[in-house]
Amino acid sequence: MTQSLTHFIGGEAVSGELTGASTNPSNTDEIVARYPQGGQAEVDAAVDAARSALPAWADASPEVRSDLLDRTGALIMERAKDLGRLLAREEGKTLAEGTGEVMRAARIFKYFAGEALRRHGQALESTRPGIDVTTHREAVGVFALITPWNFPIAIPAWKAAPALAFGNTVVLKPASPTPAIAHALAAIIHEAGAPAGVFNLILGEGRMGSALVDHADVAGVSFTGSQGVGARVAEAAVKRQARVQLEMGGKNPLIVLDDADLDKAVGIALDGGFFQTGQRCTASSRVIVTEGIHDRFVAALAERAKALKVGDALASDTQVGPAVSQGQFEQNRSYVEIATGEGGRLVTGGDALKLATPGYYMAPALVADTAPDMRINVEEVFGPVVSTVRVKNYEEALEIANRGDFGLSAGIVTNSLIHARHFRRAAKAGMVMVNLPTAGVDYHVPFGGTRKSSYGAREQGFAAVEFYTQMKTVYVGG
Ligand code: NAP
Repeated sequence: MTQSLTHFIGGEAVSGELTGASTNPSNTDEIVARYPQGGQAEVDAAVDAARSALPAWADASPEVRSDLLDRTGALIMERAKDLGRLLAREEGKTLAEGTGEVMRAARIFKYFAGEALRRHGQALESTRPGIDVTTHREAVGVFALITPWNFPIAIPAWKAAPALAFGNTVVLKPASPTPAIAHALAAIIHEAGAPAGVFNLILGEGRMGSALVDHADVAGVSFTGSQGVGARVAEAAVKRQARVQLEMGGKNPLIVLDDADLDKAVGIALDGGFFQTGQRCTASSRVIVTEGIHDRFVAALAERAKALKVGDALASDTQVGPAVSQGQFEQNRSYVEIATGEGGRLVTGGDALKLATPGYYMAPALVADTAPDMRINVEEVFGPVVSTVRVKNYEEALEIANRGDFGLSAGIVTNSLIHARHFRRAAKAGMVMVNLPTAGVDYHVPFGGTRKSSYGAREQGFAAVEFYTQMKTVYVGG
């Protein structure tokens, strides 16, 4: 069934000509949703609504805000199965991955229901007798939330929940390939009792995101997406002194040392590289392997990759779903060609698969014998394509792992405590994983990278208060 979507502005469903459409990447004949593509008028209306709702929401009792988040989390949980199915249909994650993401979104709302009640101020001793000094955290204003398609409910949740918890109002502009799941989230937040204008959703192309960032009444922008778009968003926001936070790409290294347990290392690389179709900013997309284990590792990873069941995201036995779109599918395939063209050895995968339904299916690809500075090891692919680099020892592996522009997540598989501890300090990444894939993070723990992967305050967990509040220092004399 094809859904017809609306914007949500000022507590109302706002319709328009349904010129946009999202399709099922497992069956491209199927339209999942049609939606209106807004423009400057919708951006202005949504920001106005958020600005009007701000004073009352910022002054509301923390209990009121907490209750809204708690009810939102509960409703998402209650409907996790249906929402997981919708997510799988629209984005191409498997049913298990989709439902898992929906549950993560629910738990994020529940976590921030608790955070809304936590006191974030401090009392300090003044150097002058008879004076009280305190710090307070206050709402910042209207936040623009611009989100990607690859976690189409979890990322809106981890931006909207803290923004609302601390008394801000928001306008969400989700990615074009996944409007239906964003719409479902907006409907739930309204059903949970959000006052009109507290949470607004506008649907449409990327240029709406750009109009939002430029809007004089937007106090802060939280963006997750590609590095190129992120850099432009930051430039525009900084120009008018709006707050800005960016989470962008990764080219995450996973080091495998000779002393690693082979099965464990292969399992970690398989999960980090291929699950969720490799469409994770934290995907373990380049594996750096020391020479004593290299050949056995590559052979075993190829065997496991070949055995992965690629298929319709909604089929219960599918392990790897399709790419989200034609463009992403072509990009994945082109990087396999680029890598082999530059001298890499294709060990398995890379072919387009013709299955029962027309979809963006590709066999998970492993390209071995690549050089560290080939494009495949420098640029983000964002698909089920893993490269390996052979190195002599840990020192060489570390030096290569730390190359490049990105610094999101970095992992090591080893039984050596000395190397694991050294790597924790020496890895140039915002997140370090020992004996774990570079992907797979907890929802209540600060998240973020270094260098061109991230910019501004960290997201999630106790770190979120920094971005979504401003501090006031108060002196009271007698
Ligand atoms: P994208 O093309 O950069 O789009 C991200 C969002 O920005 C979308 O809502 C997009 O709208 C919007 N947008 C496009 N042009 C814009 C502009 N000029 N101004 C403002 N907004 C604009 O990224 P994507 O393809 O959706 O997502 C994949 C990328 O996200 C990958 O690079 C991945 O690494 C990154 N990512 C990072 C993290 C992290 O936490 N580090 C997490 C997940 C994903 P339209 O869709 O309508 O164009």
